[in-house]
Amino acid sequence: MNHSKIPFVDLQTQYQHLKPQVDAAIVQACTRGDFVLGKDVELFEAEFAAWCRTPHCVSVANGTEALHLALLACDIGPGDEVITCTHTFIATAIAIHATGAKPVLVDCDPKYYTIDPAQVARAITPRTKAIIPVHLYGQPADMDPILELAKKHGLFVIEDACQAHGAEYKGRRCGSLGDIAAFSFYPGKNLGAYGDGGAITTTRKDLAEKVWLLRNYGQRVKYEHSCKGVNSRLDTIQAAVLRIKLPHLESWNAARRAAAAQYNQLLAGSGLALPQLAPYATHVYHLYVVQPASRQQLQAALDAANISHGIHYPIPIHLQPAFADLGLKAGSFPVAEALAAKIVSLPMFPEITGEQLQRVAAACRPA
Ligand SMILES: *Cc1c(COP(=O)(O)O)cnc(C)c1O
Repeated sequence: MNHSKIPFVDLQTQYQHLKPQVDAAIVQACTRGDFVLGKDVELFEAEFAAWCRTPHCVSVANGTEALHLALLACDIGPGDEVITCTHTFIATAIAIHATGAKPVLVDCDPKYYTIDPAQVARAITPRTKAIIPVHLYGQPADMDPILELAKKHGLFVIEDACQAHGAEYKGRRCGSLGDIAAFSFYPGKNLGAYGDGGAITTTRKDLAEKVWLLRNYGQRVKYEHSCKGVNSRLDTIQAAVLRIKLPHLESWNAARRAAAAQYNQLLAGSGLALPQLAPYATHVYHLYVVQPASRQQLQAALDAANISHGIHYPIPIHLQPAFADLGLKAGSFPVAEALAAKIVSLPMFPEITGEQLQRVAAACRPA
């Protein structure tokens, strides 16, 4: 029996495949010396915009900043409310808070785990300025009802696409569905840099220009500042790495889908609740999340078989100590709370082998 560790995400194997090109691209950037807002940054923005089928992309320092600057570009600030899902990574709520606006949380759909549009409708008040649907685990949120609500009430739709590079809603790419979208290039994301990175994509030239100004101290011309911006830029070296990786993203996402299909087959009848594919979705399986009858038992079985695993996420935003000021108690959002208590994420990365998938599945089945 093979007891070598199965990692949760395997970044080393991917680097070994791309090493000559990545190393050369980094050396070229260092040789040019254009470390900030250099040549690769501009080229990557054009390439990523085309890949997302949007006219505009502006890169920033990370995904959280992409959300934050997207909100600022929509003039969201103190006194405003922004609706998002309580079942997400903390960054979605932190970015809203950073503008001075209030995060208004709603529950998620019990089948697809993404934001429940019916609850969004009930949470809209005269102060609501925007909705942030999160394309969680690589599956798009149900966008049509959200876009309809936004149109009816004059709200911005800001996609949190940080887990959804290449995911599609009814054949349209995440990042092109709302007014503006935020991506993260954190190393473990479907498209990951070798450090932090992020970007916004948008169909709106005015919003792209605002983020472009905001990310670089609000200056169009050096030392002339038209607004109070921040320093939030993608390093040229990271852009160079991302440019090498982007042409592979389509096939990496296909490999993730193939791995998910294999998991689905191997785990059928195991008693685990498996990820459900929405009829409108092309999923990119950033994560493969299951619900066992007993989380403790599954975790122990995976540990015993030397298989890494995770929980995304163990505490919904409304129960995080950091957001105690929202005054939301346990019981506020029963779907998200039940999920947080049950879910387990299994190893998922494009290079995962059939043998590794079989070992994981075997460990998931009670003896
Ligand atoms: C990763 C992530 C972010 C934040 O991205 P960073 O690059 O880590 O700042 C935001 N939202 C979601 C859903 C994420 O998964």
